[in-house]
Amino acid sequence: MIQTDRVQATERLYFQDAYLQEFSARVTGRELREGCPVVILDRTAFYPESGGQPHDLGWLNEVRVIRVEEENELILHFLEKELAEDEVRGRIDWPRRFDHMQQHTGQHILSQAFYEVLRGETLSFHLGQEESTVEIGIPGLKDESLQRVEELANRVVFSDLEIKTYFLPEEELKTIPLRKPPKKAGLVRVVEVAGFDYSACGGTHCRRTGEVGLIKVLKQEKIRGNLRFSFVCGFRAWREFEICRRSLQSAAVLFSAEESEVAACAEKNLAELKNLKKKQKKLEERLSFFEAREMLAQGSAGIIAGLFPDKSPEEVKFLALNLVRQAEVLAVLAAYRNEHFHLVVAAGGNLKIDLREVIPVLQAEMQLKGGGSPTLIELVSPEKAKAEAALKLTVEFLKKKTGTV
Ligand SMILES: [Zn+2]
Repeated sequence: MIQTDRVQATERLYFQDAYLQEFSARVTGRELREGCPVVILDRTAFYPESGGQPHDLGWLNEVRVIRVEEENELILHFLEKELAEDEVRGRIDWPRRFDHMQQHTGQHILSQAFYEVLRGETLSFHLGQEESTVEIGIPGLKDESLQRVEELANRVVFSDLEIKTYFLPEEELKTIPLRKPPKKAGLVRVVEVAGFDYSACGGTHCRRTGEVGLIKVLKQEKIRGNLRFSFVCGFRAWREFEICRRSLQSAAVLFSAEESEVAACAEKNLAELKNLKKKQKKLEERLSFFEAREMLAQGSAGIIAGLFPDKSPEEVKFLALNLVRQAEVLAVLAAYRNEHFHLVVAAGGNLKIDLREVIPVLQAEMQLKGGGSPTLIELVSPEKAKAEAALKLTVEFLKKKTGTV
């Protein structure tokens, strides 16, 4: 329970003045919640977590306010440590609050723009640390429609309209075109973007739309049959622009191209890379043919085994296939990929043998997966250090099977 000498609703100073950064107040209640000191003040400029807008941070005297919650008309200030004094000076973390005001006011404008252009109603709003989101009750939209919404929202910003907040009794609400019916009964706080949007809202807002700065939608995704849009406003939009600009500039330098040509350059380079990979594969196959011929010419016969740390698993597969195509031999070849080793075992067509029989023999000694046909198996193991052991075990097994001990 809150120990308080005056159980009375906390006076919310941010209702009258969202720009109040410092204030004096008196502690009217104290308690400990899960080890965290909490104080109630007679008046506060701290905004509690509510309506999609996060709580403020700041200081009461020199003690940090780490969370602010609303409970039965009281505003609870969660503190980093005990606060000794009863008379306090409160200070809001202003850059954080102003950022919230830009995003929140931007949401009012964007929501009304979605309504005016597409008759899309705002179903929910979340103000995130990086981006904010609005869920709009429309199943889909064209790029041009989104552009029209963004253009209207930014036109409202550049018109620098006044934003007014006032309280109206419930019965007088029908005199204004509220975008959504209020969630609370009784006296309702109205936030009006002069002549453009009327919302019932208890949050903190900018004085004029110009302060919101650029409003930019970043992406959209489907959710519950509606669309959810991520957006940024004000300083966030500027920072986003800066990040995009830098990344585009770096890409342009890499391609030695104009920024407007980056996408076309990337597309061209990817196509070339795909082509080169195809050519490389063909060349590797050709190379394997000659490598196999050389190995066989050097007198390799029977079982040809080896670990090739410089080859890829695909290359040793080509080599194994070329060996067994060119001679009646068994090929047992291994290669590494990252922390795994790959083992390829191949047999010439006329050898009466089922290579798959070696798999359980190896699995008894190490973790290993894979399979194949009687004449070709491809195996992979995360126990890289056991590659040599796998080769040895396979060769021994094949020697027994073929009677070439
Ligand atoms: Zn609001």
